[in-house]
Amino acid sequence: MSKRLLLTNARIATLQGDALGAIERGAVVIEGERIAWVGEQKALPAEWHGVKALNCANGWLTPGLIDCHTHLVFAGNRADEFRRRAEGERYEAIARSGGGIVSTVSATRNATEDELSAQSSKRLKALMQEGVTSIEVKSGYGLDLATERKMLAVTRRLGKECKVHVATTFLGLHAVPKEFAGRRADYVQHVVEVMLPALHAEGLVDAVDAFCEHIGFTREETETLFGRARDLGLPVKLHAEQLSNQHGSALAARYGGLSADHLEHLDGEGIAAMRAAGTVAVLLPAAFYVLRETRIPPVEALRCAGVPMAVASDLNPGTAPVVSLLASMHMACTLFRLTPTEALRGVTVNAARALGRADHVGRIAAGLMADLCLWDIESPAELCYWLGGMKPSRVWFAGEER
Ligand SMILES: [Zn+2]
Repeated sequence: MSKRLLLTNARIATLQGDALGAIERGAVVIEGERIAWVGEQKALPAEWHGVKALNCANGWLTPGLIDCHTHLVFAGNRADEFRRRAEGERYEAIARSGGGIVSTVSATRNATEDELSAQSSKRLKALMQEGVTSIEVKSGYGLDLATERKMLAVTRRLGKECKVHVATTFLGLHAVPKEFAGRRADYVQHVVEVMLPALHAEGLVDAVDAFCEHIGFTREETETLFGRARDLGLPVKLHAEQLSNQHGSALAARYGGLSADHLEHLDGEGIAAMRAAGTVAVLLPAAFYVLRETRIPPVEALRCAGVPMAVASDLNPGTAPVVSLLASMHMACTLFRLTPTEALRGVTVNAARALGRADHVGRIAAGLMADLCLWDIESPAELCYWLGGMKPSRVWFAGEER
């Protein structure tokens, strides 16, 4: 018989329905790796009486947190560049001396799998300390087959070694590597015809993404990739409308995209397309903050249209060296004006949807994975209110205390 645990005397944010789905004086039964029952403690069915119990002392239980957009696996960092810019050096000079994404690509290419894994697992463990139990990680700092494979393999390995669910996303169309300088069309063809099918055949790809932007790839190039992803049966998501409106969100929606991410320049047409397709709007306030952007995503219009909104860290070495999902929730409220309930939904139920895993994680409901956080707080708004200093008192991952 699988292991059973009864959590009693809890206030529970189930995230069922369209708000917190709160239960006062609640209880949860964990059986094996899944949630077997949740409800008011006084309604606990007789079959669960006598199960080993843990008193939650009136703390709040939430689902384990989900960071649905990260670039967590990379080698090196860009602190030196950060220092040089702060000291007044121009970006162009830094780029000429090999800075920017080029430096992360070369560090990632040069790292062994063990080195890449060790550097990345530090960041992952910091996120896990905050209660993260599921994470998406994108490739895109290899830009050649061997290194993209290494990044995705490291992500899978972290998922086996750490108590966290991982989802891999292939982001070959992140930038044009130096070997293809001046030959962008050839690089797109290489990604679509060679890299994606090979990595998919090795079971390394859960979803496909691209950087659709005037400084990235065009909508037509993105569509070539999406067509191939569809042929292979892979879901798509997209970096869209971050710096300009390329109408990428509508394209992602047309391909049944799981999510369109960033969205500072999203327009009404994009919102309507996302709504119709059920595509999640993933908001990334940490990148907005680091880049000192001024135009915020159309949150009120997304809210009115009923487009589900998720919040993620976008953890990456360039535009978001932010190793904190809770800080991202705080910024979603302060910078993007989400409510604390929306921000919490953004890292649970809606983040699960953005990964295509809403039937497995993101809510506290019978049948879902028993990924749970217990917080010593007075109300769930505290998770967004504090900037720093917050962590769960207990975390369960797949039914086991972590
Ligand atoms: Zn990103």
